[in-house]
Amino acid sequence: MSLEIVLATHNAHKVAEFQKILGAALPGLSIVAYDGPEPVEDGVSFAENALIKARAAAEHTGKIALADDSGICVDLLGGSPGIFSARWAGAGAGDTANLELLLAQLSDIAPEHRAAQFNCHIAIVNPGIGGGEPSEEVASGIWPGTLAAARSGENGFGYDPIFLPSEYEVSAAELTPEQKNSSSHRARAFERVIPVLQRLIEG
Ligand code: IMP
Repeated sequence: MSLEIVLATHNAHKVAEFQKILGAALPGLSIVAYDGPEPVEDGVSFAENALIKARAAAEHTGKIALADDSGICVDLLGGSPGIFSARWAGAGAGDTANLELLLAQLSDIAPEHRAAQFNCHIAIVNPGIGGGEPSEEVASGIWPGTLAAARSGENGFGYDPIFLPSEYEVSAAELTPEQKNSSSHRARAFERVIPVLQRLIEG
């Protein structure tokens, strides 16, 4: 069976990543980018923001829509940067400024108090395709680790150079894309998205 679903992002890399992972598990599934009006992301959690984006895309296209929201959560900072990860150093701040600010904030903190985790929530909104019942679900994945005292590694993006995943001795930016893609918060959320989509496809 073939099904086209829409992903609420303008990021072509994300569309490719979702297509690669979900398409491998669910043959016949194709993912297209949502290009309609963007909603205001005024939720106060990853789940709420993912749902806001997926609802807008489902409503506008009439198709099943996916949206993700992710970020890094530091225990000592009460879960921040959290939903503010992309703009921790201010609106328009880039990855480097965000990372440098977080490092500076924790500069005096010992390794045993630097626990952090990447968090990813993926919302799946079905507007009621084929005359079925509308439904909403959110799948999540967490990647636990600690924050390093300095950056290392050139791969990945965002906070990867200062994130030390629990299962590795190196930063996330020193992992190969394959290593990151098999253990990251996104990979863990994807695992939970697959059965949800499977159910929707089978009706
Ligand atoms: P988004 O919701 O995927 O756009 O992610 C929001 C922000 O969280 C990004 O701008 C990054 O700062 C951070 N982030 C999310 N996932 C990752 C990751 O896998 N590595 C590094 N930073 C990430």
